[in-house]
Amino acid sequence: MKKIVLKNGKEESILRHHPWVFSGAIAKIEPEVQEGELIEVFSSKGKKLATGHYQIGSIAVRILEFGETTLQDNFYAARLTSAFNLRKALNLVRPDNNCYRLVHGEGDFLPGLVVDIYGNTAVMQAHSPGMHFERMKIAESLVSLPEANIKNVYYKSDTTLPFKANLDPVNDYIVGCYDGSLALENGLQFNIDWLKGQKTGFFIDQRENRKLLENFSKGRNVLNMFCYTGGFSVYAMRGDAEKVISVDSSSKAIELTEANINLNFPFDNRHVAVAEDAFKYLDSIGKDDFDLIILDPPAFAKHRSALKNGLIGYRKLNYKAFEKIRKGGIIFTFSCSQVVTKEMFRLAVFTAASQSGRKVRILHQLTQPADHPVDISHPEGEYLKGLVLYVE
Ligand code: SAH
Repeated sequence: MKKIVLKNGKEESILRHHPWVFSGAIAKIEPEVQEGELIEVFSSKGKKLATGHYQIGSIAVRILEFGETTLQDNFYAARLTSAFNLRKALNLVRPDNNCYRLVHGEGDFLPGLVVDIYGNTAVMQAHSPGMHFERMKIAESLVSLPEANIKNVYYKSDTTLPFKANLDPVNDYIVGCYDGSLALENGLQFNIDWLKGQKTGFFIDQRENRKLLENFSKGRNVLNMFCYTGGFSVYAMRGDAEKVISVDSSSKAIELTEANINLNFPFDNRHVAVAEDAFKYLDSIGKDDFDLIILDPPAFAKHRSALKNGLIGYRKLNYKAFEKIRKGGIIFTFSCSQVVTKEMFRLAVFTAASQSGRKVRILHQLTQPADHPVDISHPEGEYLKGLVLYVE
């Protein structure tokens, strides 16, 4: 196996089990190392610290194993088994729930890999060339997991791999084939479009927050902004909402939402879906039309360079909701931008509340669910934050 040697003093973060080696920490690297190759990491004093996947870029190594040990042949099978056992312990694998994240990258000690489960199908995304090269081994381990009942593996990495690596991945089934795309989440049915949908086809990370919303929905007029597949809307319908309006700028998302509503609540005229820009829609509604509003936009700040504008975006969006919501209304507001911290998001929402002159209390502080765990050595893994607000 090829080797890299770190600069003096740069071993600290590895000793604390942070799973990335930045290119600036490297003193020496064997010249013929290929992108995606397994590589051993040594301290400047010659001590072996870790083994991981090498890639070109600011994150140079994603660590798979710390210490002197070499990777065992059953490495992927063992890590996937442990990830599955955690999901079982979380009671996510049930007859009425067959949709969960099985692998959350660093949070499952498999940096560069994401696997979402929808019934018998696993949708797999590689974020590193190393995981791309290992995809068949991983797929075979997935279908061999006892009790997980995975029969098909759809590989979807066209947008997640670093484009400079020139790997030209093809999205396709690498084990099995299409055999239905219906998944169950807490007893609700969702048709998941992993072929054309965003990410793996569904935002599993909002599951617990959708469930919480269900409890707030009874008798309310609900506005679900940025609805995508209509997850929050379906839960609001089950929670006996009076009326549910789902809004998304993408007409494809509106079709997906309508299909999911019809699957669960056919011929129920409480629901209306609207293809419109969220900001325009909020401007068009009357004061007091809604008393439960969900704001779950795409990441407004995808990189640190976009942070300032992103925070302005969150402030403006929340301001519009505060302006329009009925007295005694509830707002579920989220940010999935990794570079926006909990404190920054709260400050942006606080500023909006203060500008609107409304009296606002925080009822719940939300985050990503337990099947999106955060490795304590890798705080960067925490990305989703949300607030449930009571507006007087
Ligand atoms: N709440 C969803 C996930 C939202 S993803 C869920 O629980 O699954 C973000 C969505 O915002 C996407 O569907 C995207 O089409 C939509 N979107 C992006 N910009 C928008 C805008 N300006 N107005 C309305 N929708 C927008």
